[in-house]
Amino acid sequence: MQRDFFEWFFQRDGETIFFGCLVIIATVILFVTIVRFFVGILQFLYRRHASKIYKKVARISENYCHLREINSKYNITSLSNYKYNIMAPVRSLQKYRKTFGEDVIGYYVEQNIGGLRDDIALAIKTMRCYHEYIQEVNLLDFETAKDLLKQKKLSRRKFRRYERKLVKRKTIKDPSSVIAKIEIYYSSPRGKNVYRKTGEYDYGDLAYIYKRWLKKQNYKISARYERSLMSDSLRYDVLRRDNFQCCICGAAKKDGVKLHVDHIVPVSKGGKTTMNNLQTLCERCNVGKSNKL
Ligand SMILES: [Zn+2]
Repeated sequence: MQRDFFEWFFQRDGETIFFGCLVIIATVILFVTIVRFFVGILQFLYRRHASKIYKKVARISENYCHLREINSKYNITSLSNYKYNIMAPVRSLQKYRKTFGEDVIGYYVEQNIGGLRDDIALAIKTMRCYHEYIQEVNLLDFETAKDLLKQKKLSRRKFRRYERKLVKRKTIKDPSSVIAKIEIYYSSPRGKNVYRKTGEYDYGDLAYIYKRWLKKQNYKISARYERSLMSDSLRYDVLRRDNFQCCICGAAKKDGVKLHVDHIVPVSKGGKTTMNNLQTLCERCNVGKSNKL
């Protein structure tokens, strides 16, 4: 029968073949449309059926109820909007070679350009909150509630399956999506050559850079505090202990030098203002020392 059809088909003239093809194409399209229509109906029916079960499960699941309480307790905002596109032009090729994405982000954090520093701080706070949240969610116990199931005509397996899906759907997703995209570029004076390098920094990278900045900041504050501890009476105690002589060259005031009280470990490196970290130095030795550090 098939062979008969082909024989018949190829004996026709051009016009008949053309219309024959049209009929075949139309039939295929119609067929696909009908199949899709029925698949759509099946999907719709399945979804309606599933949503009925979901509703039922949601009503009796203790875990789901508990999860909703946890969700409302933690106010976790999604950070998905925190995307930074940073364009960093540099003035020379030398500078271009020396500049890396981390330097640019460090600068943006220090100056809080575009609120980047605040956003990273918020992201860190949110992530800390999120870890607590996930820990609490993980404590949900899926082995409770038996008696209700019989009453609601739900099999235990089905109930668990739907409950797990429901809980998974309702669990807040990882909000750590703060991202910075960086492009460093240099274009030569007449625009002849353009150099560019790009990089992408995710939450982990940004948090690391931010924490380093914070540490430096804390150091600055503690350095200021340490310097403020240097009182006249402490200065005098140090000078007297060192016999009013430079600890390096032994020069004294009678030799016509000016004596300084110096931090052995500098405050900028975490040194404290205490007797055992202080020494008497003449001006020359003190300048010589600070040039080395
Ligand atoms: Zn000296």
